[in-house]
Amino acid sequence: MEHKISMQVDPLGRVHIPDNIMQLLGWNPGDKLGLQRDNNTIVITLNEKHSGPECAICKKLERKIRLNGLDFCESCVETIKAVAL
Ligand SMILES: [Zn+2]
Repeated sequence: MEHKISMQVDPLGRVHIPDNIMQLLGWNPGDKLGLQRDNNTIVITLNEKHSGPECAICKKLERKIRLNGLDFCESCVETIKAVAL
């Protein structure tokens, strides 16, 4: 294994996959993952890429504004406003 990191399971049984690992693997919020158990080890794999609305610029799933058929998150809209002024 190339990377070994420590993650804490929250009260609902969830773990946070660090952003750098998500980027490294090309995973995004909304993607569907699979768990494969092998004794006391689990392997997490990408089962399906999310195909829902995402920001046309940064690809986050924080859709706020739709313009000409594209969705933009609030952060990118604010960046565009700042650049346009
Ligand atoms: Zn965005």
